[in-house]
Amino acid sequence: MEHKDQPLPAHKTIALVAHDGKKQALIDWCNRHKACLAEHTLYGTGTTGLRIERDTGLEVIKLLSGPMGGDQQLGAKIAEHQIHMLVFFWDPLSSQPHDPDVKALLRLAAVWNIPVACNEATADMLLASSYMEAELPRNLPDYDKYLAERSINL
Ligand code: PGA
Repeated sequence: MEHKDQPLPAHKTIALVAHDGKKQALIDWCNRHKACLAEHTLYGTGTTGLRIERDTGLEVIKLLSGPMGGDQQLGAKIAEHQIHMLVFFWDPLSSQPHDPDVKALLRLAAVWNIPVACNEATADMLLASSYMEAELPRNLPDYDKYLAERSINL
């Protein structure tokens, strides 16, 4: 698929999700980076968002709880270019009833070239990167060309 550059605002929209076994780790990470995160718009799945608000004081726009559709809501927002970064601490040591939704969310983040951090080390690196500071152009799949080519070839 062809890509195109799109301006990326300095003020980002960051999605925060953690499975139950990783919620405390995400809260700790949010507290460590509270000053930085407070400069951006934060979205979260229902329980993750509530816990972050309660335990950090950061403001989070809360979607549905993940198993009730929150992961899919986030995926839709990524496809609509409303989310610039995903911090998703999924739990590699427990199975999830909504595993298909988790996979779908990660898939859409890959399709739309969204930076994704699945652990603290990567999340630290993302916040320290130039992606956060500058109004860098964002390399985005060219949907109009994709659709035009598809409609000719099918
Ligand atoms: P939750 O959902 O924030 O409502 O717990 C997260 C998830 O498990 O996807």
